[in-house]
Amino acid sequence: MEQQSGSVLVVGGAGYIGSHMVYRLIEQGKDVVVIDNLSTGHQEAIHEKARFYKGDICNREFLEQVLEREQIEYVIHFAANSLVKESTQNPLKYYVNNLYGTIVLLEALVEHHIDKIVFSSSAATYGQPEKMPITEDMTTNPTNPYGETKLAMERLFHWVEQAHGIRYVSLRYFNACGAHESGEIGEAHNPETHLIPLVLQVASGKREEIQIFGEDYNTKDGTCVRDYVHVCDLADAHMKAMEYLQKGNPSAIFNLGSGTGFSVKEVIEVARKVTKQPIDAVVKERRLGDPDELVAASEKAREILGWSPKYDTLEDMISSAWKWHKNPRF
Ligand code: UDP
Repeated sequence: MEQQSGSVLVVGGAGYIGSHMVYRLIEQGKDVVVIDNLSTGHQEAIHEKARFYKGDICNREFLEQVLEREQIEYVIHFAANSLVKESTQNPLKYYVNNLYGTIVLLEALVEHHIDKIVFSSSAATYGQPEKMPITEDMTTNPTNPYGETKLAMERLFHWVEQAHGIRYVSLRYFNACGAHESGEIGEAHNPETHLIPLVLQVASGKREEIQIFGEDYNTKDGTCVRDYVHVCDLADAHMKAMEYLQKGNPSAIFNLGSGTGFSVKEVIEVARKVTKQPIDAVVKERRLGDPDELVAASEKAREILGWSPKYDTLEDMISSAWKWHKNPRF
């Protein structure tokens, strides 16, 4: 990273993963510019040392103003809607914000000769693969519009690279969780729909019970299996991806997960242990668009990027999230 001259633009830097990224960049001494429309992000989550521009990536004029004013070397792009259920109910919103927003962003980057970008993709691009764990070369066949828009973004980047030379790293996250050690930022969606924060809201008395969405899946205990990965480890992978591009390496796609799958019931059980709270649970209907099991093979990121997640047990990840949930700042 020695040769880096410009600033890092974090698009969606007020969101859950984006805000942790901004903290990591600033801890590493980088100059950071944040763009966010605050539709789901929090102004309080933006590090005070980052320069913040409020606006939407679908707005080309706004992007032009930022790019004319700032000297951007890298872009890390998080801005997207990311709820599976909402995407099945409102696919058009997902195509506009995720895909069209990225098109406008790319138009602006081409215009300004910014040629390196790291962006958020998702395990949802795979759909329900036949084999676990999932490697990057497996078939992509999304089961919901959210995953479909992430896959479409990846294809868009591929063709834009061919035409305009923008190199990219696409990071397919599995299930992000946990919070920054400082206690200053953490996971805070409104409304909250993710499993771990909801379970911890039951533990802290903000919610009566956790609903388990289906127990008739083809998994070890009938509940969905997911691969949980700490948000600070995700941020770390983006740093490595920037270094990878800096060294002149070719565009690539990497899975980011721990490589271990936990069922919904196992998550609840670990949360009971960590929080020492009973956490009432009830079984409900399946949620539309949920695959049975998603577990990452993350050897590619470990070998090529040199990434190694520091949080390697679900206990540590849930403890980190619990520290935030006991005392959230926003
Ligand atoms: N889930 C659940 N109850 C909830 C929220 C989520 O049983 O209140 C399940 C969901 O069906 C999925 C897993 O927990 O199998 C993780 O869901 P989440 O929304 O956290 O992340 P996703 O896998 O959709 O990215």
